[in-house]
Amino acid sequence: MAMYTISQNIGAFGRRGELSVRGFTVKTPTFMPDGTRGAVKSLTPEMVQSTGVGVVLANTYHLHLMPSEDTVAALGGLHTFTNQTLPLLTDSGGFQVFSLSHINKITEEGVEFKDPRTGDIIFLSPEKSIQIQMKLGADMLVAFDDVVSLDEKGRARTLEAFERTHRWLERSIAEYDRLTAGMSDEERPLLFGVVQGGLDKDLRKKSLEIVQKSSVSGIAIGGLSVGESREEMHDMLEFLAPLYDDSPRPRFLLGVGDPIDLRKALECGIDMLDCVLPTRNARHGSVWVSGDTKMNLKSEVHALTTEVIEPGCDCYTCANGFSRGFLRHQFKVGEPLAGTLASIHNIRYLQRICEEFK
Ligand SMILES: [Zn+2]
Repeated sequence: MAMYTISQNIGAFGRRGELSVRGFTVKTPTFMPDGTRGAVKSLTPEMVQSTGVGVVLANTYHLHLMPSEDTVAALGGLHTFTNQTLPLLTDSGGFQVFSLSHINKITEEGVEFKDPRTGDIIFLSPEKSIQIQMKLGADMLVAFDDVVSLDEKGRARTLEAFERTHRWLERSIAEYDRLTAGMSDEERPLLFGVVQGGLDKDLRKKSLEIVQKSSVSGIAIGGLSVGESREEMHDMLEFLAPLYDDSPRPRFLLGVGDPIDLRKALECGIDMLDCVLPTRNARHGSVWVSGDTKMNLKSEVHALTTEVIEPGCDCYTCANGFSRGFLRHQFKVGEPLAGTLASIHNIRYLQRICEEFK
């Protein structure tokens, strides 16, 4: 069983703690970079570790489609396959199914969709998602949920997804219990249940109650940062903050990684967050500097700048003196190193917010 202990309360709802799972100890709050297809894009495991993050996330959807969980298992499981020694969390695949693929059918049983690459028909269900995550060898799993896509807003669909998410949670837990029966506490991965309900506060409150009543060992907040305004997202995080029970369970906010949103999330009692934003922005030359503002490294103004991205920053890139002039040049000529160095800075920027949270 995963253990979560709170070491310090910060403000009204914030906290600092330690999560123990499968022999790993994770200090929270922590940012979790997305290793979508097994690797955090253009970074070696050592580079990821140099940023201080406590966990790396991998996408069940992408790894299931390619190379498949069977291949990953045959190559030694996710840790051996990726050579990553930090704890690994897999998402459920739900968000990608609903946002990236052409869905043929959503039924009570699960979701049928087309593989965008091959056109093959793929079926995902709560049981299947847990089976894939277990076979991948993740340390932390997420229950499969029904995600409302951006173009199908509306109370009826939100309500349907809300109700189905909880029925699917029961099935995810049953499959998790079945597959982890007989495992020692040291071997057993942690399962997060997902709170849904869109921007409807009644539904969110009920969803949180249902997930908190279940036997999951982590609480995940899904369905935010999907196109709503920043005010709406912050309002929902503030609404949920006093509603968490005091059971020792980590709280994971899915898909949020803008510095301003991250600060708000920590204040509202969130312990873990993942997002592709820091690495995606970095590959396009966009880095965060103090004040949570963005700097465009491709800009002409940096052509003759000897300064690092942010003087005083302790990331590998800044600490080793890579100048903005050099980075701009590398971006201009299409050298992948530019994206790598900028990614390290951005991930460290977010992780430092977590470390300095007080
Ligand atoms: Zn830096």
